[in-house]
Amino acid sequence: MFSIKIDKEKCKSCKLCVDICPGHVFRASKEFNRMGYHYIETDGSASCTGCKRCVTLCPDAAIEIYLEEGDEKEKRDEDRSHP
Ligand code: SF4
Ligand code: SF4
Repeated sequence: MFSIKIDKEKCKSCKLCVDICPGHVFRASKEFNRMGYHYIETDGSASCTGCKRCVTLCPDAAIEIYLEEGDEKEKRDEDRSHP
């Protein structure tokens, strides 16, 4: 399971992330950020595959993707069992 963090104050609402995300997790907020843009928010991270296309594409580096802690441990354990 992935956690999506968006810095709403960096977002200029270009919506590139909305178009590129295969999980369709992004949508424009009805609220404005301090720059006057409808910043992007998520509908939750349930359908995020962790592909990081959004991170690569966002021109304002507003998106970060994290593997949630339990999964991180699981992955480390898995890596250890396959040297
Ligand atoms: S990492 Fe991939 S699936 Fe997850 S929010 Fe970004 S583009 Fe969508
Ligand atoms: S790609 Fe970045 S700047 Fe553009 S809408 Fe998405 S979060 Fe905002």
